[in-house]
Amino acid sequence: MAKTKAVSTSSTVSERYSHALITKSQELRASMSAQNAAQVVARPDHPSDEGDLSQRSHDEWIFLNRNKLEVRLLRDVEDALRRIESEQYGVCQECGEPISRKRLEALPWAKYCVSCQDLVTARKQVGEFRPNEED
Ligand SMILES: [Zn+2]
Repeated sequence: MAKTKAVSTSSTVSERYSHALITKSQELRASMSAQNAAQVVARPDHPSDEGDLSQRSHDEWIFLNRNKLEVRLLRDVEDALRRIESEQYGVCQECGEPISRKRLEALPWAKYCVSCQDLVTARKQVGEFRPNEED
C-alpha cells in the first residue's frame, strides 16, 4: 500500500474507521451466512400440518426482514469503505458538510450528518420523495 507523503490527520482517522468498517462487514457476512444455513436446515421438506405452516411463514417473515436490514447495513458499510478509498469519507452525502467525529464514532458507516439523516429518514417514512413543486 503506497503511503502518500502529504501528512494529514484524516488519513489515520480514516484508517481507524476503515478497520471498524471492515470488522463490521465481516460480522454481517458471517451472520447472514449463518442465518441462511439455519434457514435451510429449519425448512422441512414436508410441512406436517397447517399450524406448522403458518408458524413457518411467520419465521420466514422475521428472517427476511432481519436479513433485509443486514443487507442494507452491509451495503452502507461497503459504501463507507469506498468513500474512504475515494477520500470522501466523513462528508455528508446530502449537504457536503463534514459529519461530526462523535457521530462517526458511534456509526462509522454514517452517510449523512445528523440533520440530513433526519430529513432522509422522514422522506423514507413518507414512502416516496417528491420535490416540493408548490414553491
Ligand atoms: Zn448533511
